[in-house]
Amino acid sequence: MKIMVSACLLGENCKYNGGNNLSEKVLHYLKGHEVIPVCPEVLGGLSIPRLPAEIVKGVVTANDGRSVDKEFRAGAMKGLKLAKEGNVDLVILQSRSPSCGVKQVYDGTFSGKKIAGQGIFARLLAENGFRVIDVEDL
Ligand code: SF4
Repeated sequence: MKIMVSACLLGENCKYNGGNNLSEKVLHYLKGHEVIPVCPEVLGGLSIPRLPAEIVKGVVTANDGRSVDKEFRAGAMKGLKLAKEGNVDLVILQSRSPSCGVKQVYDGTFSGKKIAGQGIFARLLAENGFRVIDVEDL
């Protein structure tokens, strides 16, 4: 299979705080498959590190109040293009990110409260017919 994966799950230091979400479970699962890493936020031109962001009333907003919606959506579009070009069979994404979250996201109050919902990239992929799973469900 061709599998697209949130790059942070592979150990790439592309998280907002400069860290990663390396998952041995993911590395194990990917053995024998073709892997396409993607970080939609970096693709959208955001820096590492960057301010944490949440979806506030539909607009991706950094915790200083500035909108980063344009960057998030541009990065998601670039990631979608890669998924289409790569003809990927499956996408595995990091939980609860405002880009990659598949089942849940933070509620936009920067208080750590989670709600049902999807990140910008996860939603775009699903809308375009890709099979997207949360790393927690792997
Ligand atoms: S945008 Fe996705 S791939 Fe990039 S750091 Fe956040 S969760 Fe990981």
